[in-house]
Amino acid sequence: MNSPEIQKGTAAVWAGETGRFLNGAVTAPIVNSVAFSYEDLDEWHAVATGQSDGYIYSRNTNPTVHVLEEKIRILESAEAATSFATGMGAISNTLFALLGPGKRVVSIKDTYGGASRLFLDFLPAYGIEVMLCETTDHVAIEAEIAKGCDLVYLETPTNPTLKIVDIKRLSGAARKVGAVVVVDNTFATPINQNPILLGADLVIHSATKFLCGHSDAMGGLLCGKADLVKKVFSFREINGASLQADPAYLIARGMKTLELRIERQNASALRIARHLKTHPAVEDVFYPGLETHPGHDIAKQQMAGFGGVLSFALKGDYDTVRSFLPKLKLVHLAASLGSVSTLAGPPRTTSHVELTEAQRAQLGIPESLIRYSVGIENVNDLIADLEQALSSLQTENIAV
Ligand SMILES: *Cc1c(COP(=O)(O)O)cnc(C)c1O
Repeated sequence: MNSPEIQKGTAAVWAGETGRFLNGAVTAPIVNSVAFSYEDLDEWHAVATGQSDGYIYSRNTNPTVHVLEEKIRILESAEAATSFATGMGAISNTLFALLGPGKRVVSIKDTYGGASRLFLDFLPAYGIEVMLCETTDHVAIEAEIAKGCDLVYLETPTNPTLKIVDIKRLSGAARKVGAVVVVDNTFATPINQNPILLGADLVIHSATKFLCGHSDAMGGLLCGKADLVKKVFSFREINGASLQADPAYLIARGMKTLELRIERQNASALRIARHLKTHPAVEDVFYPGLETHPGHDIAKQQMAGFGGVLSFALKGDYDTVRSFLPKLKLVHLAASLGSVSTLAGPPRTTSHVELTEAQRAQLGIPESLIRYSVGIENVNDLIADLEQALSSLQTENIAV
């Protein structure tokens, strides 16, 4: 299943599922067994010491979980993959396994909220130096990397203003100083972007989002260079942030339709972004697929599609958002993203709730911003829904 001629949509369905399952089942079974038995002590010993393939105990590995790990490994063109109970499990295990006292990490200011909490609150307590750069200032990031560092941590597109970071350029800078490059690829998905092919060593996914795609299971994935994945796996099997078979099955099932969903979500998000861009009630639209987006040229180079998440600022303030959002009918007002149903919320109450207004302004997040994660609904219905909410907002404003 490593052959390059297999396309992503095919790999998403078949990876990890080419063998024959019990009773000829055509879908990988959910194996909830905690332990796996052996009749032969030599065979058991060979598996336990890693000399033969097999399963021992589900905190380490599990057949259902392995199916999912194979899917991401193939889709990201990686040597190896491992999994975690959540996306944050993947991020924290990776950082804590690869860093230690005296090590230095260079990253960007716009990482996912949980990752930035690790950088600001937790890693420094272990004697790890953290440098967070202006997200799109590539010259400044390169200068910090050149000072010497052990790990470069990137995310692109970022949350919630969809800033774009040049993975190839910064991976090149990291290679010169021997730093490991880790990319959180959650927003793009492997259908739209493959960081390893651009020079990254490791790729992280919150599988909770687009990979699962149905908002009904949580998981995290890490894939990339075999020696690095093994190091993180050794830490995870001991600290116990392991993925269970049930959510692994749901995520693997979701991944079978990943390409279909992403193709649709790419197309719908672009249409919605273009539509909103011309709307008189909308101040600004953030979507890397728009030619006016500052990261558009880099995005075009490194992405096959621009993703299913966009954000837009209304003319007005937070009160405008408060009155606008409940008028939308085809949207769950909820955190998270990447689901079959459209999800929306303001960063002020979701991802950036802990920041002050001044801190949000510093990150370029307007108070009237709405993050809109496009689902797989018919795009004409979504546009009509946005349209009715925007026009009733305008009517209200005229009335005032
Ligand atoms: C949601 C998210 C995470 C964290 O994933 P969980 O599964 O919620 O722990 C990490 N990175 C990005 C970009 C995310 O959107």
